[in-house]
Formats: sequence, structure tokens, C-alpha cells
Amino acid sequence: MLSVKNLSKSFGDKKVLDQISFEVNKGDIAIITGPSGVGKTTLIRCLSGLETYDSGTIDMTERRSEKEHPVGLVFQNFNLFPHLSALENITFPLVKVKGLDKEKARQEGMDILTSLGLDGLENSYPFQLSGGQQQRVAIGRALAMDPEYLCFDEPTSALDSKLRDSVGEILQEIAARGTGVIVITHDREFAEKFSTRLYALGTDLELVK
Ligand code: ATP
Repeated sequence: MLSVKNLSKSFGDKKVLDQISFEVNKGDIAIITGPSGVGKTTLIRCLSGLETYDSGTIDMTERRSEKEHPVGLVFQNFNLFPHLSALENITFPLVKVKGLDKEKARQEGMDILTSLGLDGLENSYPFQLSGGQQQRVAIGRALAMDPEYLCFDEPTSALDSKLRDSVGEILQEIAARGTGVIVITHDREFAEKFSTRLYALGTDLELVK
């Protein structure tokens, strides 16, 4: 379980997160909605270690290992390496962070691409891919690190309505494999449909479902 207790964060004298507490279980799809500027991105940046916080705790029980990156993040704009192919975007962390040899990384990368329905696109560069395909490569790159929890920043913002459901289905598959999924979104309809736990972030974090 990922357990967040009394998490607080200010930028200068602006308090963005004020004593936020919540829990996410492996297999959950926890979706956090809330108005613009309320601190959603800051919250998942704190969870994934990209932002420091002022006070509170983020604990993980039942950790599989003491790995360095137990919480992954799929960025809103995907942040793919533009000069690397789809496959190389995924194998990069396998080689550089996990230390796999090139052939093993290639096999694992191809398996991940296949599981995301990206067969045949392994040699395409990000600029040659649609927004939805780029997003799936970004998801694959995050999955390559085998995170225990995976955060998504506005995963439906760049997609038309047909693709929104396919992203929801990918989230369900990731959760079903035992990864805890945490999503921030403005997309209330998507949140209602795909969350197993739904939160609204305002001055505090309210459990809606
Ligand atoms: P949106 O839905 O518009 O993306 P959000 O809920 O994700 O908004 P955040 O991006 O977390 O909100 O920002 C919350 C507040 O913190 C905003 O007022 C923002 O200007 C401020 N903020 C975020 N990052 C920084 C930073 N690095 N330095 C200063 N202020 C920041």
C-alpha cells in the first residue's frame, strides 16, 4: 500500500498542498480530480520523487524490493527522447538504469511494445507517431522500470474520445498486473468510469468513491 500522510508543500509563501492524506493499494486505480492550480501535478511529482515536500510522509508497505524508483510517472507531454526510436525509448532505461545487456533489453522492450499494441512501430521516431501512440511508448518506458506504483498526469488530455477508453483499458491492465495506478485529471467522466477510488482535491482531499 502507498500511504500518504499529512503531506504539505509550499512554493515560497504559497501553500499548495496542505496536510494531504490518502492511500492507494496495489491494483487500485486512484483518480484525483480538482480545479486547475490546486496542486495535482505537484502531488504526483512529490510521489514520484521529482519534487521535494516540506512535511508529511510517503510510505510504501509490501515493497517488492528497495529499488530506487518504486513510483513511476507518465508525463502529460510524454517527454519521449525525440532522437530515439520507440523501442530505444523503452530500452534506454532498461540498459542505463536496470543494467540489462542490449539483447535482453531489446527482447523486453519488444514484449512491452507488443503488450501495448505497438507491434511494427518499434523503429518509428516520436515525430512519426500519433499522440496516442506516443503516449503508449511513454507508458512502456515507465513500465520498463517495473514500478510498484505508476502516476499519470492528465492521460486523456491529448486524446479524442475513442482513444480515452483505450487508455482507460490500459490503466485497467496495468492495475490488474498488481501495480497501483494514480491518475490526475480534469476529465470527470473518465475519472468516474475508470477509477476504483475517486478523490477530489480542493483545500483538502476528499474521497468521493
Ligand atoms: P493544472 O490542473 O492547471 O495542471 P494543478 O492542479 O496540477 O494545475 P500544480 O501544477 O500542481 O496545479 O500547481 C499548483 C500551484 O503551485 C500553482 O499555483 C502553480 O503556479 C504553483 N507551482 C507549481 N510548481 C511551481 C514551482 N516550481 N514554483 C513555484 N510555483 C509553482
